[in-house]
Amino acid sequence: MTAEEKQAALVEFIDTHCHLDFPDYQGDLELVIRRAEQAGVREMISVGIDLDTSRKALELARRWPGVYATVGVHPHHVNEVGDGDYQALRELAEHPKVVAYGEIGLDYVKEYSPAAQQREHFAAQVELAGELKLPLIIHDREAHADTMAILRAAGELPAGGVMHCFSGDSVLAREVLDLGFYISIPGVVTFKSAATLGEAVGMIPLERLLLETDAPFLAPVPRRGKRNEPAYVAHIAAKVAELKGCSVEEVARHTTANARRLFRLPG
Ligand SMILES: [Zn+2]
Ligand SMILES: [Zn+2]
Repeated sequence: MTAEEKQAALVEFIDTHCHLDFPDYQGDLELVIRRAEQAGVREMISVGIDLDTSRKALELARRWPGVYATVGVHPHHVNEVGDGDYQALRELAEHPKVVAYGEIGLDYVKEYSPAAQQREHFAAQVELAGELKLPLIIHDREAHADTMAILRAAGELPAGGVMHCFSGDSVLAREVLDLGFYISIPGVVTFKSAATLGEAVGMIPLERLLLETDAPFLAPVPRRGKRNEPAYVAHIAAKVAELKGCSVEEVARHTTANARRLFRLPG
């Protein structure tokens, strides 16, 4: 363990966004979960990106007490949605370990699915999440205006939501906060190039921040470029504490309480 990981073991974190069903963890998921626990990450939310991964996320959640699942179709995959997929997701969502709907949203960087189709599925899934009374996990890449427009048009979102993997500036953070959403900070915040994000983190109240690894992607410094895993949320917390001029313990206390509140986790 690094010094940060040792320090983190004294406090409790929640990794609010990771993809533990990905093949990257096939050989050693048990060790990955054990390392997370040792680093103070006793709960992690494994996020679905289509029907298959939503099912797998729930399988993991049933198997591991500290793992929770979400269901939904990521903008990359909306062009593969089959008849009955949304009905199947609706049924999966009945399980008590499914704690959110997502990740859903818009991705205009890769545009694996056409933009118009992304918007259509996004709006429909926001409505479905409302029916299911689940909080939303939103993915927004270079699609801020349309993402915000669809969320605002949905009217009141009683279960709220989170802008995941936030990498925007203070102006966008303000808009997300005004919508009543939480903002989740990924390992990107530890990168040298992340000055704008760092400024935004400085202005986001601790009461509205969440932490996430988005593992296996986006490993934070000093693990940058390697496979990411939930234990590394400690590095993100350390950077957020530095940016906010407070202790890691304080960051942990707030972000963990926020995650419990949004996702209605026990404990
Ligand atoms: Zn995402
Ligand atoms: Zn993700």
